[in-house]
Amino acid sequence: MSLAQKISIAREVYRNKQLCKLMQITLKPELQEEDREALLSVINAAPFDKNFVPNTALAQAIRDEGFDMSTSAVDRHRRRHCACYRVQE
Ligand SMILES: [Zn+2]
Repeated sequence: MSLAQKISIAREVYRNKQLCKLMQITLKPELQEEDREALLSVINAAPFDKNFVPNTALAQAIRDEGFDMSTSAVDRHRRRHCACYRVQE
């Protein structure tokens, strides 16, 4: 197996199994492309960034779309205390 194939497999494992609940939402096939882009543009935004939306409002908007999402899950991701950032070793 080539290095490119190994990296590709590692990326799929990461995306499918190691991303936190918030980032998993961005991979949902039922999400419209426009919604996916809007979500990705706010997920890592910080206060005073152009695209910033508070954790509570972001979690509520995601719940309004029918997904299970807590404010604390958004908070953990933004503070880098989620599964996404626990995989660097
Ligand atoms: Zn995360």
